[in-house]
Amino acid sequence: MSKIIAVFNQKGGVGKTTSTINLAASLGNLGKKILVLDIDPQGNATSGLGVDKNSTKYTIYEILIEEADAKKAIIKTSFKNLFVLPSSVDLAGAEIELTSINNRELILKKGIATIREEFDYIFIDCPPSLGLLTINALAASDSVLIPIQCEYYALEGVSMLMNTIQLVKKALNKNLKIEGVILSMFDGRNNLSIQVVDEVKKYFKGKVYTTLIPRNVRLAEAPSYGLPIIEYDAKSRGAEAYRDLAEEFLEYEEEGE
Ligand code: ADP
Ligand code: MG
Repeated sequence: MSKIIAVFNQKGGVGKTTSTINLAASLGNLGKKILVLDIDPQGNATSGLGVDKNSTKYTIYEILIEEADAKKAIIKTSFKNLFVLPSSVDLAGAEIELTSINNRELILKKGIATIREEFDYIFIDCPPSLGLLTINALAASDSVLIPIQCEYYALEGVSMLMNTIQLVKKALNKNLKIEGVILSMFDGRNNLSIQVVDEVKKYFKGKVYTTLIPRNVRLAEAPSYGLPIIEYDAKSRGAEAYRDLAEEFLEYEEEGE
């Protein structure tokens, strides 16, 4: 059984792409077959996994706008069990092009229906907005993974985020679930970080992963080398955290079945 998971928070810079890349790579290492689907026009998940954004013939853009076969767009990365469906700069215009199409919220769901069973997990790295690309991602997914940065105003925007999920559930995807909440950029020396963890746990009850992702400069460096953290610096605290998160993620998955 495959599962499609949207990594979503309309705020930018909260750790969506970092969590997508590194959770995906760690799960690949644990033997799961993983696809990272990059639906953010910025394409950071694509380049962060070592794929040159300018050399791809088929991307998520062609799937959405030209109904290209999703199989053609999948690229095998150099990492174990890990594949990418790349983004393209053209995606920035796709949001406008989509507005004139019938059932425009369900194009992605339809476009990837033929590939879903080829993977254990498909992670969709969402853009930092609530536009049609994000709605397509949420409509195509079984669940939502929410990264939250341990910073001032961590919960700001969360009610809007939950509202969006509710709206998508009502109108497009009644079985959409919350997969879990990832606390990112945690700094144990900082009281604020500790307070944020408490607040987020209160708000999301049992949905928050115990594993905290620390603020770790190696995590910020790795994408410029096109490497997941477990390849860039396997001994770093960031690598350790995403390995732990992958194990915790799978524990809940197995419990849920
Ligand atoms: P989003 O996809 O939500 O916009 P990113 O994952 O791109 O967020 O993270 C925003 C920035 O913060 C990036 O430059 C990234 O490298 C950096 N970053 C993310 N997580 C961490 C972390 N745990 N420690 C240090 N830097 C991080
Ligand atoms: Mg991102």
